[in-house]
Amino acid sequence: MGLWDHIGPMAKTPAPTAIEQGSGLFSVVWDDGTRSEISFRELRLSCPCAECVEEWSGRRTLDPASVPEDVHPAAAEPVGSYALGIVWSDGHSSGIYSWPTLRALGRPAT
Ligand SMILES: [Zn+2]
Repeated sequence: MGLWDHIGPMAKTPAPTAIEQGSGLFSVVWDDGTRSEISFRELRLSCPCAECVEEWSGRRTLDPASVPEDVHPAAAEPVGSYALGIVWSDGHSSGIYSWPTLRALGRPAT
């Protein structure tokens, strides 16, 4: 058996089958059957866009103090089949969260 036979199926990127907005968090159901929860503020603070992260260094330039405690999505829509685009209540709208990013930020939920 080759290496690829071993890692092949695991290399598939999980994608959400459902994303629900709960109280202060997103609840994501993944196509591998797991579920995770991601708080709105944590997601806002982890925004991967060029306004929040310095592109050449990867340094986060977003000041957490500038983000309201009760920040929440004003709108959230899938971007293609690979990401979630969120317009935040603080007016920030350039954040696009890929599935692996959402996956990495989420905490396992039951
Ligand atoms: Zn951003």
